Amino acid sequence: MIPTRTFWLAGRPASGETTLAVTSPWTGQIIGEVSVPTDEQVEEAVAAAYAVRDEFAATPAYVRAAALDHVSKRLVERSEEIARLISAENGKPIKWARGEVGRAVSVFRFAAEEARRFNSGEAQRLDTDAGGQGRLALTRRFPKGVVLGITPFNFPLNQCAHKVAPAIAAGAPIILKPAPNTPLSGLIIGDLLAETGLPTGSWSILPVANDRMPELVQDERLPVISFTGSERVGYAIMDSVPRKHCTLELGGNGAAVVLADFASDEDLDWAAARIAVFSNYQGGQSCISVQRVMADAAVYDRLLPRIVAAVESQVTGDPSDDRTDVGPLVSEDAACRVESWVDEAVGSGATLYTGGKREGASYAPTVLADVPADTTLACEEVFGPVLTVLKVSGEAEAFAAVNDSKYGLQTGVFTRDLQAAFRAHRALEVGGVVIGDVPSYRADQMPYGGVKQSGVGREGVKFAMADYTYERVLVLTDL
Ligand code: NAD
Repeated sequence: MIPTRTFWLAGRPASGETTLAVTSPWTGQIIGEVSVPTDEQVEEAVAAAYAVRDEFAATPAYVRAAALDHVSKRLVERSEEIARLISAENGKPIKWARGEVGRAVSVFRFAAEEARRFNSGEAQRLDTDAGGQGRLALTRRFPKGVVLGITPFNFPLNQCAHKVAPAIAAGAPIILKPAPNTPLSGLIIGDLLAETGLPTGSWSILPVANDRMPELVQDERLPVISFTGSERVGYAIMDSVPRKHCTLELGGNGAAVVLADFASDEDLDWAAARIAVFSNYQGGQSCISVQRVMADAAVYDRLLPRIVAAVESQVTGDPSDDRTDVGPLVSEDAACRVESWVDEAVGSGATLYTGGKREGASYAPTVLADVPADTTLACEEVFGPVLTVLKVSGEAEAFAAVNDSKYGLQTGVFTRDLQAAFRAHRALEVGGVVIGDVPSYRADQMPYGGVKQSGVGREGVKFAMADYTYERVLVLTDL
């Protein structure tokens, strides 16, 4: 019999009246069931979070930091079990799932460190102007209120960590809504938080049904929404609550640029290997996976065969096997969508170098070139293991090709030229430029987020804390 997992309501385990089945994308078998909160239970969690907000904001930094350190430590202790759970519910190869647990360990540790540093305040003298004589301003940051965190399926643990840990570090209560197809990993965070004794109501993890979400989004007691997921849902949320603070981490069609100077055999081997791995890791289901390569004409003919060979060396198959690089996509529907986009591109004249085959929910690592600019594959986020390679003449053309996208999350630029790095930083319309590596590089403490239709606001622990809080000034008068 499949066990039913409870959810976390105001810090305690609870069950609703209905359940949600969680299916393994690899086996198609149901691997677990999660209890779904009733409307009354959702209301109870929101009311508890709202009621505790002042108490939580006033909870000493050392208490919140200790709780965050505890979660980090316990994630380490339970890491293999949690990695297996991520792999089972998401289809992610176990080696990548282990990496995800390691990142969540760091996110909670960074949050503990930031909690200790945060809000030390700043003193500003106001007597630089006659009107400010005898006055001193102290600025400190206060939580905007309860955070509603909403997460996608592709990093079912670490996306949740990126919502929960900064909220606790900033003293803001949080209600987390994990993705319906991968709720089990996020609920584990509740298991560990429950061991900490943080104030009742300061956190809840609720697998609320999607059709109940618009009501929750509208709730005035939740002034901050931190959403990671698709453009469609993200913008619908922001449009429905224009007066709330919304952080949106949305899609991307990440580009890697290989400039003419990156031309030695070692350089091209490195670029090809990194591009091959990071167009396929998580089956390409990462918002910063490599979808587009812009290769300078000076290196194109030597780079393309290297990329194709490196992509073909990716091991596909059972995600629970240590040797597997690429597992299934999240569902057969997702794989069918990827298949139809590749078929459309090939039908429009693109050249297929490898891949292009689907089996159930699995799609073979795929490389294409000469993809017409008006195809869906060229314009949209593929969110699958598919790479398109474009020949460009010179850096300006490469950067223009990167910018010719509605998205702007991160770009990787393979170059050894420091001045080219500065030029890339200035020219590229993205939230992050990575020199010497793929756009998929992300350290969890660095600012992370997009421009254009890739979103608004930044994650990365201390940047999320800034988003969850506002500056309140205290003016002291020397009477
Ligand atoms: P999704 O938008 O379908 O779902 C995301 C979350 O929103 C889920 O928890 C879902 O239940 C919830 N949701 C659905 N309808 C809702 C509604 N009406 N109101 C409120 N919440 C609602 O996304 P997904 O398919 O789970 O994830 C894939 C997408 O996430 C991709 O587009 C990917 O690029 C994006 N993503 C972005 C980042 C980033 O940091 N920029 C990271 C990972 C994934």
